[in-house]
Amino acid sequence: MITQLLHEVYQVNQGQSDALDHELSLLIANIEKEGVDNIPPESLATIVKLRKKLHKDIVKQKVRFDKHNAELLSLESLSTDPLTDVPLNKNDVSTGSLLRQVILVLENYRAAVKALEHTSKVTLTEQFTLFDQHKKSFIDLYQDIHVNIAHKPQLQKLHSDLNATVNIDELLRNSKELIALLLKNINNEKETSEYFLQALNEALSNVKQIVDESSDQNNSTKLAREKWDLDIHLNVDNIQRAVDDGSDTISLKKRISKEISNIVKAMAYKQQFDQQEHEKLAQQLKSMAENLSKVEAQAQDYKSQLDQQKQLNLTDPLTKLPNRSALNQRFKSEFQKAKDYDKPLWVVVADIDHFKRINDTYGHNAGDKTLQVIASAISRSLRGSEFIARYGGEEFVFLIPLATKVAVDQILNRVRENVKAIPFKFKQKNLTITISLGATKVRLEDQSPESTFERADQALYKAKNSGRDQVVIK
Ligand code: GH3
Ligand code: MG
Ligand code: MG
Repeated sequence: MITQLLHEVYQVNQGQSDALDHELSLLIANIEKEGVDNIPPESLATIVKLRKKLHKDIVKQKVRFDKHNAELLSLESLSTDPLTDVPLNKNDVSTGSLLRQVILVLENYRAAVKALEHTSKVTLTEQFTLFDQHKKSFIDLYQDIHVNIAHKPQLQKLHSDLNATVNIDELLRNSKELIALLLKNINNEKETSEYFLQALNEALSNVKQIVDESSDQNNSTKLAREKWDLDIHLNVDNIQRAVDDGSDTISLKKRISKEISNIVKAMAYKQQFDQQEHEKLAQQLKSMAENLSKVEAQAQDYKSQLDQQKQLNLTDPLTKLPNRSALNQRFKSEFQKAKDYDKPLWVVVADIDHFKRINDTYGHNAGDKTLQVIASAISRSLRGSEFIARYGGEEFVFLIPLATKVAVDQILNRVRENVKAIPFKFKQKNLTITISLGATKVRLEDQSPESTFERADQALYKAKNSGRDQVVIK
């Protein structure tokens, strides 16, 4: 019995005085070791002393909760703002919501103080249970409290302090600090929303300025734009006035949302108007694009006609071979390439032997036909990389790139043989027609294509003089 009492006394006093804690634990250990009957009289005197101390502590506690009660009353008077009837929303950090939270904390605070009042009448176990219950309800309350970002670290500190509380005194101190933080947050929230409204006002003033500038730019749609501008200006001015009036946060918010909804309506009107303008413009652009593609098609037509003409200008109508102009173009560029890269380029002049006789004997038409057949035979005897042109009359010129003298000799003799093998028949008479060929290679000292050509022509002259139907390479 005495041991149990001592244990209770020890638990109640624990933490209040290190000296008493020590004395009590010694006494308990002594009793447990020696037995109750052997308690020395000085120990009983100690128990009496401790009981007196316990009584004094209870009186002290009473004074403490009277003080807490007075604080509670003064804090409650702070929450008499009319905004407290705003419904509580957990995600809402507005003034009303925070005030509701303050009241919840105060209710908890009062419950805790009431609990403290009963401390002397309930058992220690009951006291601890009560403390735990209140601590838990405070911890739960923290889950619902939202403060603005600047106050978050303080709130977090209070939360962790609360977890560490071991007695009702610390719990009350914590709730007091929480209330102070919430009140600070309310003021701050009010300032923030006023700051937001000022910023909004500035942003809208900018809109007004942009509207002024854009309406100057477009005079054709002036009237429609003027009406829109007027609407926007009116709404922006109303907001300016509302902010300048210094109305309270809530009514300021209401007025501003009304003006903003008007602005949104005006914007929608402008969008519709712009849409019409845009469609008109798109229509104009479409017809412009159509005209443009018509002109483009015409240009394309002219261009292909021109290309055709150009092709015709470069083709010999009788033999369908490239003509002299075409040769000149091709020879110029091949000559340059041969000189620049020091690559072989052979120039060949071929001439039909005694052609005049064909004309004279069988007529000009037979002459023309002969020219066509020979041109096509030469063409077929050459490769794609080898160029052939009708130079004029019954003369043809070939350009043979990248070949040795031996190869050129072979090619030209093959051409000569192929022409010679054509079975001409005029007026029931079989006829063999031959050609003579003179060839030369572009040399370093050749100043122009004409110099090379001159040498090829000299080679042809030599072939003619040497009996025709032969190839001379110079
Ligand atoms: P050579 O062996 O020395 O070349 O004798 P050739 O008779 O071929 O030489 P010449 O230059 O004396 O005669 C060329 C003839 O080619 C003259 C011309 O009537 C004929 N001729 C030139 N162009 C054409 C043409 O387009 N059609 C026809 N049918 N004859 C042409
Ligand atoms: Mg001839
Ligand atoms: Mg000739």
